[in-house]
Amino acid sequence: MPRNDIDDMHSDAWWMRVMDNDLTLDEERRWQAHLAECQMCRLEWEAIARVDVMLRTAAPPPKLPDDFTMRTVTQITRKQKLRRLLSFMAGVVIFAVVAWAGGICFDVTLASVVRAVNAVISSRQILLAAFVRTLVGLTATVQTFLPLMFGLAAAGMLFLAPNSLMATAVFVWYRRRRSQSARTG
Ligand SMILES: [Zn+2]
Repeated sequence: MPRNDIDDMHSDAWWMRVMDNDLTLDEERRWQAHLAECQMCRLEWEAIARVDVMLRTAAPPPKLPDDFTMRTVTQITRKQKLRRLLSFMAGVVIFAVVAWAGGICFDVTLASVVRAVNAVISSRQILLAAFVRTLVGLTATVQTFLPLMFGLAAAGMLFLAPNSLMATAVFVWYRRRRSQSARTG
């Protein structure tokens, strides 16, 4: 009767099951009996056992320094702080750009007013025409700048999102300016 491969103690299949600790109690008993009488299997088994012990007692993987977690947390916190700082700086830059654009607009307005006053002083005849022209130019200038200013203010609000206090202030400021110019125009 040919021996079943799974029962052949010299087959790879059997050795795999031995190494996987996959033998039944009966098979284990027969295996120990076989080892006692078969020198070839006994020597091979002892060699495998030595390798197994070697692997078990091999140097453990390098231990992480005790402060590793603490340092990692600190680094992450630092990165978050940096990101917050960067978003704050971006907000400041946007605020500065909006203020700068507003400044240009204000300069233009001031120059227009000065021109209007000069017109009043130089000639009563062209007074009305010059004043109206100045007002028209002033209104046009403000209207040209308004979309840009509102766009920048909106971008600022988006960037500063949970702490959009500054952007809100800018927005309120421009709303007030717009209502002022609406009153003058
Ligand atoms: Zn054997």
